[in-house]
Order: sequence, then structure tokens, then C-alpha cells
Amino acid sequence: MISVSKLLCGAAAPNDHLRYGKSGQTPESFSLQRPIVVWNCTRSCNLHCVHCYATASNQKYEGELTTDEGKAFLRDLADFKAPVILFSGGEPVMRGDLFDLASYAKGLGIKVALSTNGTLITEDVARRLRDVGFGEVGISLDGIGGNNDRFRGSKGAFDAALQGIRNSVSLGLRVSLRLTITGYNYKDIPAIFDLVEREKIDRVCIYHLAYVGRAGDKRVDDITPAQTRSVVDFIFEKTAELHGRGLKKEILTVDNHVDGVYLYLKVKREQPERAAEVLELLQRNGGNSSGIRIGAVDNLGNVHADQFWWHYSFGNVRQRKFGDIWMDTSDPLMRGLKNRRPLLKGRCSLCQYLDLCGGNLRVRAEATYGDVWAPDPACYLTDEEIGLDRSPLPAGTTPAAGGRP
Ligand code: SF4
Repeated sequence: MISVSKLLCGAAAPNDHLRYGKSGQTPESFSLQRPIVVWNCTRSCNLHCVHCYATASNQKYEGELTTDEGKAFLRDLADFKAPVILFSGGEPVMRGDLFDLASYAKGLGIKVALSTNGTLITEDVARRLRDVGFGEVGISLDGIGGNNDRFRGSKGAFDAALQGIRNSVSLGLRVSLRLTITGYNYKDIPAIFDLVEREKIDRVCIYHLAYVGRAGDKRVDDITPAQTRSVVDFIFEKTAELHGRGLKKEILTVDNHVDGVYLYLKVKREQPERAAEVLELLQRNGGNSSGIRIGAVDNLGNVHADQFWWHYSFGNVRQRKFGDIWMDTSDPLMRGLKNRRPLLKGRCSLCQYLDLCGGNLRVRAEATYGDVWAPDPACYLTDEEIGLDRSPLPAGTTPAAGGRP
């Protein structure tokens, strides 16, 4: 995650330490921080989003972790000192024991957050979320009105999610609006920011598309690099404008750490006095941390490097403790993700900002080139911006689609 509001405007937010470490913490100890774990606790969902990475549907899935198995897994996480669990899905509110599981996690000292489509958040559900102590309720809106409904495969989904947002905000819950950028909705982003202001939403997370699940064969729905730059420019401008008006919104972009490099280049040009501070924060963060400080467990208990790797598992929490699976580097992918620098290929391996970006989203490289260590096709920086125009290409390097490797 790139916190645009912090990096561009210096605005602090409650969970900054998860991205940049605590004050006084050394970069070395921060790099050993335990992962935030996304638990896709059910695959059942009342919607049918065209880009769902979990390929979730409105049906019952056999073999999902039971309440007791879920609690055993939560105890593993607590033993391992995982700081935060994000209940996701499918639609997590469809799990009847969500509140029981979340209370249990809280009792074990794990912070709880929710990722939901929002359509089932009635006043009663919002009250229960507040009473359990959810630190954040992430609600997805992938466009305005009918555009959201088309994307989410259900007429009325926009109105229902908006009501869920209102029910949550009115009870003082910290709501985080989530949107995944595609060719269908990028033009709605200005209107989404208007809605954020109107509805008094605290936080916005704008996701870049990962080409997995239902989006696996839909990468053509991703926007072009030029469009991505202009969307990111808009997000930067809007964040600065909100901040300038004294509105304390936390604005983040997700799943494209190139945004951090792009932001740094902008700060270097326009606020050179802040450039060293931004550079240090991005270096501490280190960019993509799938398999390091972010992990995922699916509805069946399989452990993944992040929520997009349903096709590859390191083990199952029914058989081994989460922490044992996570620290076991006998698996080549786990070993590689934890020390990826020597494995990255093409322009990522040559990039002067690799320490800030971490080589970006590996699952997107794999989906595009069939090679986990190939360059991420969603990098929109030019060769000149990443210092590649000064480096000779290594012998045997093959160009990636769209230009130099
Ligand atoms: S070339 Fe690779 S490492 Fe560099 S900014 Fe782009 S995606 Fe990140």
C-alpha cells in the first residue's frame, strides 16, 4: 500500500507503523515484522463481480474452516504475533460466526479489519461490527450507480453498499472505500472522491488490477500505462487538495508500488525539501511484501503469499501452524519472495528504484509472462525514470511486451 496522504502531504494515520515501522524501530527489525494476514474466511458471496480474484459465487463451498478450526488458526496467528487479521471473502458477513471469530481474535490481541461488499451491512450488522471493535470496515464501490452494479453483477448493489456505508459511518466506524481501477470505471474516480467527501468517509484505497481469478482472462480490461499515470496524477492532486482544505482523509493506492516511486519523483521536483523524508519512508517500506509482511489464508485453510495466489499454496493451517508454514523457506516460491532481488529479471532487476518498489506484484508478472520473476507489466515508469537508459541491457535479456524488458 502506498499512503499518498502521508508521503505527499505528511498526514499521519493510525496504521502508518504497519507500513513504515514504529518510531525508533530500526529498518532491520521492521523488515522482520510479522505479516498482516488476509483471511478469505468464506468464498460464498451474494454478488458476482467481474474481476473477483476469489472467483466467488452465491453458493455454499464445502470444506471451509469451521468455527473451531478458525479459532485454532487465530490462536496460531496470536502465537506468531501477527498484528492484524483482515476478514475477507467472498463476503465475510455471510459467515454466521464472523462476530464470534472477530471477538475471539480481539481477545487474543490481534487487531481486526473487514473487507466487505457492504450490501449486507444493516444498522444491526453495523452495530455488531462496532461492538466487536473492528478497526476498519473496507467497503467496495467500483463505480457510481449502474456502473458499479454492472461491475459487481447485481442490480441495486450500489444503493445497498451506499446504505452499508451510511449505517457504518453514522455509528462512528472508520470506513475505507475500496475501488479497483479498470477500463470500466476509471472515469468515475472524480465522482467517487466527491462521494467520499459527501458521505464523510475517512479513507480511500484505490487498487490496481491483479490478473487472477475472474480477472485472469480480463487483463484487457486494465487501463493503459498512460491512463494509469493520469489516474495516479489525479489521485495525487485530489489528495493534496483535500489536505489543503483541512480534510483529514487517508488516501492510499494498492498493488502497484510504482506509485511510490512516481510520487517520490514528483516530490523531488516540487517539494525538494521533503524528498529525503519520503525516500526514507519508501525505503523502510521496501515495496511489495507478498510472502513477507502480507499473507493470506483461503476459506479451506490454504496459506498463500498474498490474497491473489489461490493457485499456489505453501501448506494448510489444518496440518501445520501458520507461523511454521510462513517461516519455512524450503518452498522455492516462499524462499524467492523473501529474497527476491537476485531472482528478478529484465527491467526490474536493473531498476534504480528496486529497493522502493520491491519488483511490484509478482502474481501479475506470472499471469502475463508465465514467469514469477519477470517484470511486472503494470510498471508505467519510463526507462529514463528508472535509470535504465543509462544501463546496457544484459546479454541474453529478452524484451517484455510493450518495450524494453
Ligand atoms: S521497473 Fe520493476 S522495480 Fe522498477 S519501478 Fe518498475 S516495477 Fe518497480
